[in-house]
Amino acid sequence: MESGKKISVIVPCFDEEEGLTTFNQTLIRYLPANYQYEIIYVNDGSRDNTFQVILTLAKNNPAIKYISFSRNFGHQNALKAGYDFASGDCAISLDADLQHPPDVIPELILKWEEGFEIVNTIRNDHHSISFAKKTSSRIFYQIMRKLSDVNIENGMADFRLIDKKVLKQLKLFSENYLFFRGIIPWMGFKQTIVPFMANERFAGTTKYTFKKMLKFATTGVTAFSVKPLRLSIYLGSAIALLSFLYGLYAAYIHLFTHRAITGWTSVIFSVLFIGGINLLMLGIIGEYLGKLFIENKRRPNYLISETNLD
Ligand code: UDP
Ligand code: MG
Repeated sequence: MESGKKISVIVPCFDEEEGLTTFNQTLIRYLPANYQYEIIYVNDGSRDNTFQVILTLAKNNPAIKYISFSRNFGHQNALKAGYDFASGDCAISLDADLQHPPDVIPELILKWEEGFEIVNTIRNDHHSISFAKKTSSRIFYQIMRKLSDVNIENGMADFRLIDKKVLKQLKLFSENYLFFRGIIPWMGFKQTIVPFMANERFAGTTKYTFKKMLKFATTGVTAFSVKPLRLSIYLGSAIALLSFLYGLYAAYIHLFTHRAITGWTSVIFSVLFIGGINLLMLGIIGEYLGKLFIENKRRPNYLISETNLD
């Protein structure tokens, strides 16, 4: 029975031409028949024929919408565009490579129908996910939890359902360093978590290079916490204390043993050590300063070159 409600599905795409048609078929198969739907494909500056594929899909199905960026703005900004334009009673975001299995969607909707306003998912690692990816992801979430005050579960994915109430609030977020996995748990509302088994990428290769992952992780921490800045106070005090103790020891040697101190090694060591710590702290401060600089410009998160949404 038709409920009269609409589900928005948001799919960020960057160079996904090979798998997108299959993805689209699979996705539609798992969308419940008692809801209307719209699928918003966000073409994040793909260099291949992803946009042509999307246009073909949209021509054959009026429920398919697209937003095409003027260049690559990154996964999080692609998600933001989708959230900005979604008009459904709830919005589901998922990756275009079938790693976020569409067969979990009915379960997300069930939770929503039960009254949850945010349905998160966490990835239960599959044996096919590389060891490096698993480990780096685990370490990342551990650091994230230590440093920020947001409780992000291990393996939290950008595969989630949010109610239109949450969507309305989410549209108010226009920070340049977006990190939805931090923002969403921070928002409150009635939240729940559904685990899923990640598949292998259906086609193409990962768009998260090591460099992108590092950038993402840095943003995750620095956009959510000022604790790294506090690190300099702790490290500084620890080093000052150690230097003081060493000074006492040096004075003792000088006054009571009368042994001459050659001292070269210790001088070099302390100079290098203090220098290193100094640079590290400057780097941390610089990271925040840079973010302030960019944020202060209030530039838009993305620029649209073509869309069939208004
Ligand atoms: N993606 C994007 N812009 C980017 C990088 C990735 O829109 O700059 C999309 C990509 O098309 C996919 C999703 O974000 O739908 C996740 O990327 P990917 O599968 O490459 O990451 P992984 O699963 O390896 O972490
Ligand atoms: Mg993927």
